[in-house]
Amino acid sequence: MKAEATEVLPRQGVRAPGFDRSPQWRDYFSSIEGRETSRNANRRCPMPYLTQLADVARRTGHPVTESAGWKTRGHGPQPEVQGIVCHHTAGPPGGGDYPSLAVVRDGRPGLDGPLSHFGLGRSGRIHVIAAGRCWHNAPSTSPLHDNSSSIGIEAENSGSQPWPEVQLDAYRSLCAELCVEFGLPASRVKAHREVNTAKPDPHSIDMNDFRAAVAVLITGGAGPSWTEEIVKDLPLIRLGDDSYDVKTVRGCLFARGHVPPTAYAGTTAGLEEWLKSTSCDSGLVELVRGFQRAEGIDDDGIVGPGTWPSLLRV
Ligand SMILES: [Zn+2]
Repeated sequence: MKAEATEVLPRQGVRAPGFDRSPQWRDYFSSIEGRETSRNANRRCPMPYLTQLADVARRTGHPVTESAGWKTRGHGPQPEVQGIVCHHTAGPPGGGDYPSLAVVRDGRPGLDGPLSHFGLGRSGRIHVIAAGRCWHNAPSTSPLHDNSSSIGIEAENSGSQPWPEVQLDAYRSLCAELCVEFGLPASRVKAHREVNTAKPDPHSIDMNDFRAAVAVLITGGAGPSWTEEIVKDLPLIRLGDDSYDVKTVRGCLFARGHVPPTAYAGTTAGLEEWLKSTSCDSGLVELVRGFQRAEGIDDDGIVGPGTWPSLLRV
């Protein structure tokens, strides 16, 4: 393709050498991020360019291609990794393993590349494209999945064609290895459509199934953990429900530090009474929403397959 010839041209942006968490870099983040820097001030721990990404990709066992110059490619360094966002390229429907490489690497009119850290070919080949920050999700509805806080994977797909199983296998494996590398639970793996209301991608992948498979890979493929086994039998808990399982939700929220004293201030017997209640009232739903936001889960206030694993995690 035409753009292949420009493969080795240096990309615009800040170079990795010299990145050392110095005041100079803090000023850099402040100047480019403004509001976001202040919002994330308490958890921000600046990272250098993520030059380990090719090694992480190789752990999947799938073939890896390092795009020339990837270690210094990015819109500045990657400030942090709190989440992973899965995309499809919406590229041409036919021909080639990863025809979208040039676009993902170099950008398109109106949006400079790199657009994501990884590309994923139809054969399961993983292209490592950038080690710095990429423009893959803005505006994000999740602070854990915006451009400054997450890694993007652009998988080749027209947006409607079936996914080859080998590509899906590589997709799940890459997400699992990234979770292991950055210490993230599978719940931090999101579809673009889950963290950006204007996006449809990646099409037709059930993300609950996808995350469940990633969780199994994270634990070493030893089969579902005890939490995953019991989660299958747990019901949805939503506003207005009255059941014993509501008490489980209350107990888990309390154990996770998500029940402030104000939550039970209005009860006669205080916390004990609050914990025994089998009623899913609006106060409980609000606490569930807070927990979901803290975990990077959609904050719908409903405890279901996406929330139970995080609540029960030991
Ligand atoms: Zn996308």
